[in-house]
Amino acid sequence: MASEITNHKCPACTGPLHFSGASGMLECDYCGSKFTVEEIEKLYAEKEAEAAENLEVNEAKKEKEKAEFAAMGIEWSDEEIKGMKVYNCPSCGAELICDSTTAATSCPYCGNPTVIPGQFSGGLKPDLVIPFKLNKDQAVAALEKYYKGKVFLPKAFKEHNHIEEIKGVYVPFWLCDGNAKGNALFSGANVRSWRDGDYDITETTYFDVMREGNIDFEKIPVDASTKMPDEHMDAIEPFDYRELKPFSTAYLPGFFADKYDVSQNDSFERISKRAENSVREELRKTVVGYSMISTKNEYYDFENKGIKYALMPVWMLSTKWKGQNFLFAMNGQTGKLVGDLPVDKGKFWGMFAAIAAPLSIVLSLVWLFM
Ligand SMILES: [Zn+2]
Ligand SMILES: [Zn+2]
Repeated sequence: MASEITNHKCPACTGPLHFSGASGMLECDYCGSKFTVEEIEKLYAEKEAEAAENLEVNEAKKEKEKAEFAAMGIEWSDEEIKGMKVYNCPSCGAELICDSTTAATSCPYCGNPTVIPGQFSGGLKPDLVIPFKLNKDQAVAALEKYYKGKVFLPKAFKEHNHIEEIKGVYVPFWLCDGNAKGNALFSGANVRSWRDGDYDITETTYFDVMREGNIDFEKIPVDASTKMPDEHMDAIEPFDYRELKPFSTAYLPGFFADKYDVSQNDSFERISKRAENSVREELRKTVVGYSMISTKNEYYDFENKGIKYALMPVWMLSTKWKGQNFLFAMNGQTGKLVGDLPVDKGKFWGMFAAIAAPLSIVLSLVWLFM
């Protein structure tokens, strides 16, 4: 059977393999054997090339299928067809319906980790990957720790485990090298006041302050997936780039992976804004010794010196509370966790009142003594 999917099977017992962050190796769910990424890569290189080829063949088949469905009176819009792919699980044969960016997933029926190598072949192959280091239990523990000490969090939310879904996702990122330069004209002012006889005198002295500079950047990260909220992805930075590895599909089994759906070009504005903001901040920091500072005009420019395609490990946790969804993201390498929490309004105002009350007592005491 021709298949576009690779199941990484244990060479010892044919059980499913998954990548373990703790050991940095592929581990067998059944017999416990461990294999290095290199070993599995070697074993699967041929199968993956074949699977990638099948994926291309199937693109042609899809057009034919579309015509067949049309003949039966079922019309599929191009959007529907483009946004969806159907694969067969090599382990149990079930149909897997994925969206067009899915590159690694697991079978909802038999749980087998599956990889769709065609999504990452040829020009779509990522250059680099940071393998997962933290596992699912560590992600859940981190979320529980995050809840602790949050006074405004509703008690019921804290007590019950409200995690709806937890997924380890390799998120596509662009890593951009470049140089940002800029110049800015600031206006600084110093104010002096004194009393001269019957007059209050205020003297304001204005200065023009010119600044110019440039910064070299290495691997500015921006996520290249429309599915991932940008704020969450920016907030779980930084990643430790020392652990970047050349990409291999052997890091994927057991996790989800998406190929990018935001192009380099479309990411460029976000990248250059980040670099230019850093230059702006650095220039502004050097303007000191004035009581007032404002910017008169400024100019920034970013030069792109090369972009790399990388996959970054992220645990996504979603919870539901009173019909609302809350999304958390944890850096799968460093454990940094970000997300929104529901706020217990009653508690919040209660706390506010507790602070307000002693304050008014102090104020009235001061009033009494005056
Ligand atoms: Zn095994
Ligand atoms: Zn299956």
